[in-house]
Amino acid sequence: MTDDVMISLENVSKSYRGQKAPAVEDVSMTIRRGEIVVLVGPSGCGKTTTMKMINRLIEPGSGRITVDGADVTSLDATELRRRIGYVIQQVGLFPHMSVATNVGLVPKMLGWDRRRIDARVDELLDLVGLEPGQFRNRLPRQLSGGQQQRVGVIRALAADPPVMLMDEPFGATDPLTRDRLQNEFLRLQEKLQKTIVFVTHDFDEAIKMGTRIAVLGEQSRILQFDTPERLLAAPADTTVAQFIGAGASLKQLNLRRVEAIEYDEAQLVRSDESPATVLRRLDESGDWAVLTVDGEQRPLRWVGPRDLSPDQSNLDGVGLPVTTVEARATLHDALDAMLTSSCGATVVVDDAGRYRGVVGIDRLMRVISEMRETERSRDRGVTEAPYRPPVTPNLDAATNPGGSR
Ligand code: ADP
Ligand code: MG
Repeated sequence: MTDDVMISLENVSKSYRGQKAPAVEDVSMTIRRGEIVVLVGPSGCGKTTTMKMINRLIEPGSGRITVDGADVTSLDATELRRRIGYVIQQVGLFPHMSVATNVGLVPKMLGWDRRRIDARVDELLDLVGLEPGQFRNRLPRQLSGGQQQRVGVIRALAADPPVMLMDEPFGATDPLTRDRLQNEFLRLQEKLQKTIVFVTHDFDEAIKMGTRIAVLGEQSRILQFDTPERLLAAPADTTVAQFIGAGASLKQLNLRRVEAIEYDEAQLVRSDESPATVLRRLDESGDWAVLTVDGEQRPLRWVGPRDLSPDQSNLDGVGLPVTTVEARATLHDALDAMLTSSCGATVVVDDAGRYRGVVGIDRLMRVISEMRETERSRDRGVTEAPYRPPVTPNLDAATNPGGSR
């Protein structure tokens, strides 16, 4: 076995008592250090069973599973907990225990002293943006769905295990919260570099989260195990293609992050400036709207000439609200944000919410057609990138809330 393999399954099967067919049959795969491997497949295909055999919440029927070189059947419960964190379906926080007690469970079982546990709990709460003083002593029901999910994730991280098993970890939240949790987790993973097995039945989530994706059929049979790019470009068979569903090129928007494309620039105007300033800036730039910002360069609203009247002394509350995305969000998130903002553009912000640039619908359309072109030339076996004329900046769509002047 090579050094970069963290988890291996060799011919693993599992039959439940009283079931005719095995729930999992003859699965083999290796998972490398630091990658997120997503198991995706329809409900009931055996994802949870496969995952739970890795930390022996379900005993493997036959076959062999190793974690960091050790056969899991040779490890006791303590050693398994030290090595493997587990985020269960439906969060599963203990309702009568405080957030701190929930998060500290595994360290406590591992015999850490109280002070070390407390410090670790606070560190983890900070990590996911839950202010320890405010959240440490709350009960799970005093948290929003998204906050509960965050606590579920840091509970699994508590003893800093090298491996994380995550079973539909964000499944119970609304789409918006889910997106936010996914982005936050990917950001966390950049720092933590855990080896992660991530189960979902949602192919879009698989594309977004996975370093590699195993598409599973009945009894966890592996239909294809590949990178998201390869899966979308070359599904192994019609079952996989059907599972990917329509709109593979749209789904590729999930593969590309906002930070990977060039931004457009907007004219920034402080909201305490006058309408005259806006008109002058619009005139100079030829743009259709300016972006008002606060003192910290955080975007506020799109303001065009029609939003102005001569008796205003400043720009407070004038114009259309903006939507924002972080640089790490996917282009799919950006498209969503553009559509909700109804002005064909979204503002890219940094971690502190400050302006970084604008992505307009025109820009996005160009990126999509470039991606499509790349796929086509790959299919034709062309290795050289096709000539593309340089992209000319076009601010119209990016800063045109009204549609036309
Ligand atoms: P998934 O997570 O992909 O939805 P599961 O691994 O939970 O699938 O289940 C795989 C199959 O095994 C299903 O047919 C399910 O009904 C069956 N199964 C799961 N758990 C048990 C159990 N404890 N006893 C009997 N059958 C089970
Ligand atoms: Mg399941």
